[in-house]
Parts: sequence; C-alpha cells; structure tokens
Amino acid sequence: MIFNRSVYLIIFRRFAVIHHTNILAFFTSSVLINLGESMKKLIDKQKYQEALDLFNHNSTSISDVAISLALKALTCGDEDNACRIFCETKNKTPSAYGVMFKEPDSTNLVMLFNACAQLRNERALKIKNSFLNQMSKLFNSTNHVVNSFLNILIKFRDISSAENVFVQMKTKEIITCGIIMQEGKVGYVGKALNIFDHVEKPNKMIYTAMINSFGLNGMGHEAVDLYRRMPIDIHDEVTYICILNACSHSGLIDKAHSIYNNIKVKTERITTAMVDCMSRMFMFDEAQQLIDNFELSHPPGFAMYMALLSSARNHRNFILSEKVLDRMKKLFPKNKQGLIAGSVLLCNTYSSVGEDEQAKEARLKQLHQIGKNKIVGITWTAPKGEVVRFKAHDNSHPQSKEIYVEVARMSVELKENGHQYDSRWITREINDDENIESILCSHSEKLAIALNFIQQPIQNVIQVTKNLRICGDCHSAIELIAKLRQRPIIIRDANRFHHFDTSGQCSCQEHF
Ligand SMILES: [Zn+2]
Ligand SMILES: [Zn+2]
Repeated sequence: MIFNRSVYLIIFRRFAVIHHTNILAFFTSSVLINLGESMKKLIDKQKYQEALDLFNHNSTSISDVAISLALKALTCGDEDNACRIFCETKNKTPSAYGVMFKEPDSTNLVMLFNACAQLRNERALKIKNSFLNQMSKLFNSTNHVVNSFLNILIKFRDISSAENVFVQMKTKEIITCGIIMQEGKVGYVGKALNIFDHVEKPNKMIYTAMINSFGLNGMGHEAVDLYRRMPIDIHDEVTYICILNACSHSGLIDKAHSIYNNIKVKTERITTAMVDCMSRMFMFDEAQQLIDNFELSHPPGFAMYMALLSSARNHRNFILSEKVLDRMKKLFPKNKQGLIAGSVLLCNTYSSVGEDEQAKEARLKQLHQIGKNKIVGITWTAPKGEVVRFKAHDNSHPQSKEIYVEVARMSVELKENGHQYDSRWITREINDDENIESILCSHSEKLAIALNFIQQPIQNVIQVTKNLRICGDCHSAIELIAKLRQRPIIIRDANRFHHFDTSGQCSCQEHF
C-alpha cells in the first residue's frame, strides 16, 4: 500500500481532528516509514512548508527525518519551528544532538538552551552550569542567546543567577518582557517589578506582563493602578483578560465591572474572565445573565461554564452545580475530558455538604456516561535545582522513606495545631487499608513539600507546581505548615499562584 503525497495530506488533514493514537493505530509501521520517506522527499525538493504540514499532523517516531526537517527549518530561517520540532522529537540519538549543534553559532545555542529548558534533566543541568561558568562568552553573542539562557535559569528556578545575568545585559527592553512574565510566574513579583522599573518606555507586552504578574500574585490594586497608567491605545485582548483576572483573584468586582463595561469588543475570552470574576464573588445570577447575553450572538464557551461550576463548588451550591453540569453535557457532548473535570467538581460539591451517597452516585454516572479521568494529578518541585515529580501515593523517589516520615511528622504538628483532615476532598472510594488521613497525606503536593523539608539547607522559599487545582485540604494544611515551620511556600496550581506566608495566610484569600 503506497500512497502518493496528496493522499497522505488528505488523510492526515482528516485525521488531524482525531486523537493521534488513532492515527498510529491506523497506520502500520510500514506506512509510517512511507510517511518518513514522503517527508524526506518533500525536504529534498525544498518543499519545506508541506513537509512541516505532514510533521504537524503526525507524531512520527522516525527521529532522523524529524531532525532533517528541523535542520531544514533552520536553513529557512524558521527558528521557532526548528526548536519545536527538535524538542518534540522523541528518542533523540546522540548523533541528532551532534547534527544540530555542530558549530555553536547563535542559532544552535538558542536551540540547545530551549531544548535544555524543556528537558530539565541532569544533562540539561550540567549544560546550564557549564555555560554559567563562561558567561562572558555568552555576552558576546546576540540578545536572543542571552534571553534563551535566562529562560533555562528560570526553568531551573536559579533566580539569583538569572538576576545577575539580567543586570549585565546590554539591551534590556524587548528581552525583559519574557523575563518579567517568567519572574512573575515563579512568584517573584518584587523582582519582576525591579526589572519593570529598569525599562524606559515599556511596550504593550511589558505592561501586560507586569499586570499579569501582579494579578497572579494576588496584588489586584497594584494591577489596576498600572492598568490605569498604561496608554489606552495599546490595550489589547490579553491586557483585558489579565486585568480582569487580577481583579477577580483579588475580589475587586467594582473595578472589574467598570473596566469590562468600557471594553469595546468583548471577545469570548474577555467575557469568560468577567464570568469568572462574578462567579468568584458568588454573583451567580449576574454571571448566568452575562453568559445568556453572550450566547445571543456567539456560540457557547466551555470555560465560562467551568468558571461557574468551580465557584458553585466553593459556594457548596450543588443545585446550581447540577444545573450547570447538565447544561454543559447538552452543549459540549464531545468535550469528554472537560466534562470529567466538571463531574469531579460536582462530586466535590456533594461531598462538601456531606451528601456522600450522591457523590458516589455522581461518580458512577460519570464513569458510565463520560468515562474515566485520564489526567493524573502531578506536582513538581526542584529543591536542588533538579526537577522532581510526584503523583499521589508516590514511592518512586529514592528518599521515599524519609519523605513519608516527614509527612507523618508534619501531620502530627498539623493535628496538634487544630488541623482536621477534611474528607470532603476525597473523590474516590476509601480502600480497607486506608483512612481519611492516609489518603490526604499522600497527596502529591504534600509529598513535594515534605521533600523540601528534608533538604539541608531548606530553601528560603519552598516552591512547587501542580498540574491540577490544589485541593482544599492541602490548601489549609499548607497555610498552617508555612506558619508552624516559618517558611514561605509558593504553589502554582492549574489556576493561579498561592503564596502561603509565615503568618499562615494565602494570597488567594481562599479563592482557589
Ligand atoms: Zn490535596
Ligand atoms: Zn491559596
């Protein structure tokens, strides 16, 4: 079975809308080889764009073809795609690195740094450290190179080196934007502000990045002040979303209202930010009204309903949650993963009002109607510059024993200081050998924090990142731990930053 190029393209376009595992199931390995050959021919014939299309619509396992494509991208001056293709290619052989990084010119350095920032493994750490020792060489190359190097430092949470590099940089304006964003993202808003103040004439991106940093870190008033200082003619959709989110995360509903009313073109994303803001204030009627108005002239937006649903959970309003989820099932029957996330929120809502039977029923209904949740909760932390990941009940870390001893120690301290483990946040059956405390203590964010506490010395600020939203039990436990151990803890979850300070409070003011 040999297809010609146009047949491949038609098939791939059609299959692009289906999950790529279906593609792999459909194409036998011999077809994949044919595909690789097709890509090779396109590359040879200088038809770069068509070869790129084939790559984009397929997850090819033929790394040498992908590497040729990345090289082709480089020669076409398409650095972004070259980096992306190189990073996405699995099973890179040492020779692939050799081909890509033959001569360390600035493009190759950027690619090397981008790959390191993505991989964040031991080898990447070594490369980062070796370049740190020869910084003067880097300063002789382009700003693009220095910027990519800063990106690795930030990905490895090496903020002090990043600051050093920043201070020595010749041109700061364009590059600073990315840095402010990144600094804000890892919770160092003060440092982001220092950098912002260095920029003589901030552009749209720099203003927006700084507003976003304030917003993510629960500093809504500062975000609004800066938004007011920003020239109106450079506002865009992203600026509006960032400022509305900033208001939302700080409970500034009046400010959000006045900003929203003055926006001329209210896109789906802007309206979602406003729905989120109202829902967080438990203004559910107004939020639903806004959704209804929006849908008079636009197709429905999934994220608006999720915003409503998660606030309904925080409000423990299961009647509203049921109503919203039913509507979501009708409007978005194909968004299975989204509907699973929605059902989990509904189960949480039932559990939060002690309706355990209904929670159980809803879980069964979800399994039956939508399927199993495939997204596993994962927390990352990098106490020694090397990224470690945890799942719930994880035993894979070499220091696993010590981690669980530390978790038990934390648990004793928590209980002595009034923490009560909250079963409402358990969303699955409890097995015979488990209890409420043992399940909640094995949540991945608690394991990651315990790992930080068994390091010598302990980091001044403990930082962890989670792919899902933090659960309510971990949130209140971590508030107390930050206070008892007098150690600030920053958690970036799927939704926002939580700065737990040593007085035992979180910057989200319980809006999680
Ligand atoms: Zn938890
Ligand atoms: Zn919080």
